[in-house]
This record gives sequence, C-alpha cells and structure tokens, in this order.
Amino acid sequence: MDIQLSLSHLGYLPESPKILTLLPGDASGLPDAIPFYLRQNCLRMPRTVKGEDKPEAGFSARFPAPYDLLRGKLVPGEGTASLYRGELRKISSRWGEMWQADFSRFRTPGSYQIETDWQISPPFAIRDRVYDRIIAGYLTFLRAQRCGTAVFGVHDACHLDDGILDSDGSPLAAAGGWHDAGDFRKWLAFILYHVDALLTLRERLGEDLGRGGIAPDSLLDEVSWGNTYFHRMIDSSGQVYEDVAGGGTPAGSALTYENDWWFENHPGCYGDASDNRWTDNVPNSGDERRIRTTYNPLVQWAFVQVQARASRHLRSPQAEKCLQLARRAAAFGRQCGHDRRTLFLGAEVRGELELLAAGDTSLDLHAFISSAQELMQRQAKAIEGLSGYFTEAEARDGFRSIAFAADPALTLLRLWELRSMLPDAAVAEQAREAVFEYIENYLLVDASSNPFSLTPYGVYLNPPHRDRQLFRDAGNGRGVRTFIHPFNSQGIVHGTSSVLMSHAHLLARAASLLNQPAWRGPAERLLHWCLGHNTLNRSLFSGIGYRQPVGYSFRIPQIPEAMVVGFIGRPDDSPYLEESTAIEWNTLEYWSVPFLQAAQAACWLRG
Ligand SMILES: [Zn+2]
Repeated sequence: MDIQLSLSHLGYLPESPKILTLLPGDASGLPDAIPFYLRQNCLRMPRTVKGEDKPEAGFSARFPAPYDLLRGKLVPGEGTASLYRGELRKISSRWGEMWQADFSRFRTPGSYQIETDWQISPPFAIRDRVYDRIIAGYLTFLRAQRCGTAVFGVHDACHLDDGILDSDGSPLAAAGGWHDAGDFRKWLAFILYHVDALLTLRERLGEDLGRGGIAPDSLLDEVSWGNTYFHRMIDSSGQVYEDVAGGGTPAGSALTYENDWWFENHPGCYGDASDNRWTDNVPNSGDERRIRTTYNPLVQWAFVQVQARASRHLRSPQAEKCLQLARRAAAFGRQCGHDRRTLFLGAEVRGELELLAAGDTSLDLHAFISSAQELMQRQAKAIEGLSGYFTEAEARDGFRSIAFAADPALTLLRLWELRSMLPDAAVAEQAREAVFEYIENYLLVDASSNPFSLTPYGVYLNPPHRDRQLFRDAGNGRGVRTFIHPFNSQGIVHGTSSVLMSHAHLLARAASLLNQPAWRGPAERLLHWCLGHNTLNRSLFSGIGYRQPVGYSFRIPQIPEAMVVGFIGRPDDSPYLEESTAIEWNTLEYWSVPFLQAAQAACWLRG
C-alpha cells in the first residue's frame, strides 16, 4: 500500500474537529514527527529535485519530466505559501502505527490540500454548510433507486409487474417504492425509513432547498412515490407485508422463518437472490416476483411511525389516507403483540408517539408510558466499564443491530422532543437522561479505544467463539467490539457504515435538541470516517470524495451517489475494507440505510 495522507475528502465546517492521519503502508523508517503544510488547493509547493530532473528539463516547471510530482523533498518558504503548518506525530494504536495531527484551529474558509514530504492529501473545503453535499447526494441516490419507473441514465422502467402473494400466488399490484441496495429487493424494514428521513430533511432545510435549485416539493414527491408502494403493502385487516422480492429459502437448506429470519436484530437473513432479477413488466405472464406476507412487528410499527409522520406533511387527501392506514396498522400491531425484544419495543413506542403527534386519540397512555419505561429499564447501569447501552429483555444479551443500532436511543430522544404532548413530564425527563447515558457512558467512552473515534458495534454478554476473535473489555465480564464478530452462527459479516451513521445522526440530533454542542464533533468524526478519513483514505460515498472502493451492485454496476456498507472487522477488531475488484457484498454493497442516516446527521449539523 502507498503512503496515504488521509482526511475528510469533502472537508469541514470552520468549527469542525479536523484530524489528519498519515498511513505508512508497508514503509517504515519515517521520523516520529513529520511536518505538514496546509496550502491552497492545486498549487503545489516546490520540491528539491536532482540535477538531471531539474524542472527546466521538463516541458514546464510545474510538470517536470519524468512526471513524478512527489519526487524530492518540500522546500518550505519558496513558491506557494503555506497557510498553516504543524506536525504529524507517530502514535501506536490497536490498529497499528500511524501519524496524526489535529489542525482544528485552522478555520479559514477556502479550498485546500495538505502536503508533506511523502504524500499530499486529497483536496477539501472548509466552509459553512459543507455537509449539504451529503444531503444532495442522498436525494439523487434515492431518485436513482426508484422501482417501477424509468430513471433517466440509470435504468428503464422496471418491475411494473410486482408482484404475487407468497401465500396463494394471487396477484397484488405492488409496483413502486425503491430498491433497497445493490439489488432489486424492496424490504419494508429498511426502505420505510426513507419517509422519516425525507420528512426530517423537509423540516430542517426550510427554504434552503429551493434557494439551491431543488424544488422543495420534491421531498414530498419522493415520499409519495414511496407510498405508492407502501400503501399497497397493508391488507384490509391492517397487517403490513414484509417485502417484495426478498427471495425464498435457499434450495436444500433447513432454514426456517421462526429460527433463522433474524440475526443480530436484522431481518431477511436467509432470503436468497432468486427474485433479484429483471422481469418482463407484464402482469400475469408468470415471472412476477413474490410478496412476503409474514408479520414482522418491526415492519408493522415502522409503517405506523412513518405514515403517521407523513400525515402531518402531505396534503389532503393523501394525508388522511396515511393517518387512516397508520391507525389500522397500529390496531393490528396492538392486537398481535410481539415478543418484547428491544428492537420491537422501541419501534412500538416510536410508532405510538408519532400517532399521538398526528392527533390520534386511540393511544392507551398508561400502556405507552409503561412500554417506554420498560425500554429504559433495558439500559445497562454499570459502575465500572461501559454503561448506558441497551440490552435485551432480562439482560439475555446486549442489544446489537447493524441497521438499527441507534433506534432505542433515537426513540427516547423523540419522546423527549415530543414531551409537550405527554401528560407526564417525568417520563420525558427519564428519556432525556437515558439518551445522555447512552451517549456519554457508552458511545463516547468506547470511541476513545481507536484512533478514529469510531463508536462501538455492540456489547456481548456471552461473547461467542472467544478463542478465535477479540472482544475488548466492557466491564463486568462483558465484551465489546467496534465491528460485528466475524465468527458467528450465520456467517454474516456485515459492514458498519450504518452503525456509525446512525450514531452520527443520534449525536448530531441530540447535540441540537439537548443543547450539548460537544456532541457535534463526535458526530462529525463519524461522517469524516465515511468521507475518507479512515485507515485506507477511501471515501465510502461513490459520488463524494476520491479513491472509492469498487461498489457491489448486482444488476446495475454503478448506482449514482451511493454509499457502501463499509468496513468490517478482522477477528482482532481492526478494520477491513475490500480494495480489490474481487467485489463481495460484505463491505462493498451499495445500501440505503447508512445514507438515510448520514443525510439526517448532515441536516442536524447545519445548526
Ligand atoms: Zn425495480
């Protein structure tokens, strides 16, 4: 690997934390302190060159033969002025040796690069509203993921013939919505949350979107586009269906919905890719994709949540339709109940909250407060080690989730945000304290375990295969990892961008709502990791930054403005991202979940 000079490729707000990391690759023998120079983008500093390579030997002084622009040592004080200088210092971390510097003090807006003897950083900006680029990318990405229509430059009209019920094969018109990832599957557990993200953007961006040339109504248009699909995925009894094209059970396997559908709070774990295909777009021709009609309490309550939210934004008669369906879904969810796992409990509380906010009066307030308190009782209260993280019921295990890592805390933050609608101020105050505990005693404490301030994947009460993979000490005999444990029962090793971006969203949102400005920096550090300030100097956004890994997308190799699932961890809990073109989904698949979280983090960081 080349020596890399790594930072946020997009750049920084003036007040952002700004960490620079030099990654030595295989080279050794670098000095413990390495000077760096921040300068105007594009205008390189002069370097010493040997006689035969003198600049005048080439066709221009700025591009001397033989075109090796990093040859020689920098000559400070000549040519381009450095606007800021500092020193990278060698550090030893659990992820190896690297050189780091903090240039947060430099706040002058502009367009820059940082130069050292060994390497030059990617160009980056310092300016207000720099993260708006993430929001713009997200909207372009989501438009490109539309299913059931042509997307200019991306794909022709697709899947107009979705789909047939898995129960009896009868047709149900369920075209529309969005592809979730680098395939054509339409999982409600994941893509429903785009509605929440779009509405959050609408609330936070105000008129800035229109001033920037994006029609403000385009957000509501996108919500309505999703609802063309979602509103077909609920039956007359109020049950919400789970997915279209998730796929069947792999041939020859003994996997069952009851035992194997969920892993680490992630649904859909064994659905094969048999419906990840183009269809002829003609209903009843025989190649229609299957609609999974199973009851999933997460999907049920996510539906309630986002449709109740949408009813407060959309115009009549769409608004009434959303609220009516949310009420119907809630009634079904209350009647069917669930197994009280932390993920379902949080989703139910969130769904009931949004119904209440939408003016629905069917809520049993006593039961609601009891559920909220049950959720808060799941928080670890440890005297030593990590504390404040969520566990499953009866402390059977830590709560861990790739897609929904921050959901319990986001639910409690939302409860505090909507506290004026509750008769009991005490429960809102408890929720505020719970969010505080989760951030201060869990996320931020464990973030100090690594040189990029990454927040943890999760805590393990009974770490599996402890002889083969590292669990760091979380206190009380418990283990913690930054990345999912690779040796696991289902062989699923999933990248962590969604975990980090959901934490970034939580930190940014809580910083604003709970008036804790110190949490903005940690949120930004997580964004910076995905924007290139990581152990490989690679941006995980296909359309933002430079040096992207090769995305994994099964039928449409390049999806515009996508975000990859990101780094996994080696057994020793150090980061790994596939850099070759031997692409595999684990680190490289495009996925909507991290992006919808990143976009929300960005909008709360606007101030
Ligand atoms: Zn499609």
